[in-house]
Amino acid sequence: MAEEKAKRKKIKATGQMQKIMADYFYELNDAAMSGDKKIAWCTSVGPAEILRGMGFLVHFPENHGAMLGATRMATDLIPHANALGYSPDICSYLTADIGAYVKGITPLSKAYEGIESLPKPDVLIYNTNQCRDVKDWFAWYAREFKVPLLGIETYVGVGDVTEDHIISIAKQMEALIPSLEEISGRKSDRDELKRVLALSRECSDLWKEVLDTASAVPSPLTFFDGTIHMGPAVVLRGTQQPVDYYKTLLAELKERIENKEGAMDDEQFRLYWDGMPVWGRLSAHAKLFASLNTNVLASTYCNSWIFAEFDADDPFNSMARAYTKLFIVRSDETKEQYIKDMMAFFKVDGIIYHDAKTCPNNSNCRYGMPQRLEKETSIPSLTINGDLNDMRLVSDEQTKTNVEAFVEQLAERK
Ligand code: SF4
Repeated sequence: MAEEKAKRKKIKATGQMQKIMADYFYELNDAAMSGDKKIAWCTSVGPAEILRGMGFLVHFPENHGAMLGATRMATDLIPHANALGYSPDICSYLTADIGAYVKGITPLSKAYEGIESLPKPDVLIYNTNQCRDVKDWFAWYAREFKVPLLGIETYVGVGDVTEDHIISIAKQMEALIPSLEEISGRKSDRDELKRVLALSRECSDLWKEVLDTASAVPSPLTFFDGTIHMGPAVVLRGTQQPVDYYKTLLAELKERIENKEGAMDDEQFRLYWDGMPVWGRLSAHAKLFASLNTNVLASTYCNSWIFAEFDADDPFNSMARAYTKLFIVRSDETKEQYIKDMMAFFKVDGIIYHDAKTCPNNSNCRYGMPQRLEKETSIPSLTINGDLNDMRLVSDEQTKTNVEAFVEQLAERK
């Protein structure tokens, strides 16, 4: 098949998104230089709203890990963390990020003139809702910077989210406040928390609407677009900027739908992606699928920043509920039902599972789920072996051969 037979279309709002991200990194950098504002490092689905509500600027190491992957810097940096005793088998965000710190480099300095390093934290906050790796990752930095490490220990494999879960997590969230008051030197302000949470909810609702546009045929969006445009929802939720941005993006996508304009020229097959992106191959994968007239258009991954339960009138309980209801926290039964619903909603012809070697927490194909779901739905699946950041674990040839064979199989079914 000719490479790039069908081309992906560029999203016009991309420039606005890049500006928002640049402003975000410069604000953090300025604060770190001037010492004007306190800086917290937070896990990507940690309680960022509490931090913003108390005036912290927030850095997300996973976002930095993804940048290391997307710029293909990660693979060379991972061994530096391995040398400190962090196994090549554990999260390659963690090992790439710590490796980059040890080497004193960051992709930010290439992307943004004047930024030399990451903003040093005054506190590190984790939530183990996604995995234990984030706690170990942050613990390393807590020792390095000699700053407090605080966090929330969440249940794993949760089926129904019960009141007991909510009470326990909400209490842990509230228990963070006295320490954060001490670190920030200011009293927590309930009204400010409510304001931030309302903004975060608005961002989440708009982000969901953006992702849901992919249910249109043809889809105006690809998964690969989603992984880039989710940036503001991850790092700036709780502020006005992502709210404004997603309104613009949504209008553009709705216009595409109205004009029956897909994200690619000739969408013949529609796929769902489960698991982590392969950051070092994002563009290569986008091209590969586009060349096969196949749109990978929706994912569990991008949906991870939808927090439909946030309620400004009940901040702690609703945050506890939202951060526990996330896909990654749930039991296989709940995950299977979720994927089934998503496959029906997005009208997909097949599903790709990415088995990311260093992220068992977000690789859902290891205990028979693809087979069970295929049996139930008759929607075929393909498992790709690879990794989010360690490109030594990715075989491009094998991926290409497998994807091409899978699409041929889909064509035969049609
Ligand atoms: S969920 Fe996976 S990729 Fe994310 S921090 Fe945990 S191990 Fe790393």
